[in-house]
Amino acid sequence: RRAAFAALRDVPPVTKDGHRVTLMVNAGLRDDAAALDTTGADGIGLFRTEFQFLVSATLPQRERQQRLYRDVMEAAGDRPVVFRTIDIGGDKALPYLNTDPGDEENPAMGWRALRLALERDGLMKAQARALIEAGAGRTLNVMFPMVSEAWEFDEAKALFEAQRAWLGSRGRRLPLDVRYGAMLEVPALAEQLDLILPNVDFLSIGTNDLTQFLFAADRANPKLAERYDWLSPSILRFLRRVVGPAREAGVPVGVCGEMGGRPLEAMALIGLGIDRLSITPAAVGPVKAMIRSLDRDAITAEMARLLAHPVRDMRGALGAWAATNGV
Ligand code: PEP
Ligand code: MG
Repeated sequence: RRAAFAALRDVPPVTKDGHRVTLMVNAGLRDDAAALDTTGADGIGLFRTEFQFLVSATLPQRERQQRLYRDVMEAAGDRPVVFRTIDIGGDKALPYLNTDPGDEENPAMGWRALRLALERDGLMKAQARALIEAGAGRTLNVMFPMVSEAWEFDEAKALFEAQRAWLGSRGRRLPLDVRYGAMLEVPALAEQLDLILPNVDFLSIGTNDLTQFLFAADRANPKLAERYDWLSPSILRFLRRVVGPAREAGVPVGVCGEMGGRPLEAMALIGLGIDRLSITPAAVGPVKAMIRSLDRDAITAEMARLLAHPVRDMRGALGAWAATNGV
């Protein structure tokens, strides 16, 4: 099977009825960019910039950040790289930074990611400059984690735009374009789609955090790992509720959580109208094989039918549908 997946490297992820899906990979280290060539992926849909901070003994200075970002963009060539600004804090506290809020009872719901970055804005200003300088002459894609309200995205974008203007005023070479996206992983943001959609260039749904917040179930707790299924009606209906308005507004919406890396889950996502997935590199082959065996219009109809009258075992129902339809 491995050889069969490798043989798919150079064929596009197109459904049987001719719909092209954008398949990208998740990455976080310099060497991860090599996965683009081994998998034939369309780009890096999630570059977790906090990895560099987490593996460093000291705060990575702007020059070091910039070098990493430039190396990754160079390795990606024409393929897009979506850089997610640092998602640290909570359980990912940095010992060399005084960002420890003290003992948090619920670090996942704590002072982390954009919440921390907007307050400690020196950190994000340095990262903004590093990204903007690294993106000189290219299109730079930036995405903010844990956006809970639309204004947080607006503030983060304004911070980046101020750095872009400042660098421009100093005669620095700038990106050709900067595209800004929000991660949708805190359910509250779904109630502010009308406020955020006019201002974002794209949305990326982080199903890892979204699932834990939607079900109030710690994603790191093994006791709960099997309890709530990604294919449950709650998750699928939630996603459907987000995809509709995003598509109407012409805003590309993808999924960058682990859910998209499972073939049956990816099939369901495509049936909900999602056509961009960013997944772990090892999943590209299996997901691409699934896509090439799938009729998008048929799964779209099946998802509408199932979500109108959900059964308890949605996984079983979707698995049976896949088997009957040669997926
Ligand atoms: C997510 O939450 O789904 C996600 C992609 O981000 P992370 O796993 O890094 O929190
Ligand atoms: Mg997340």
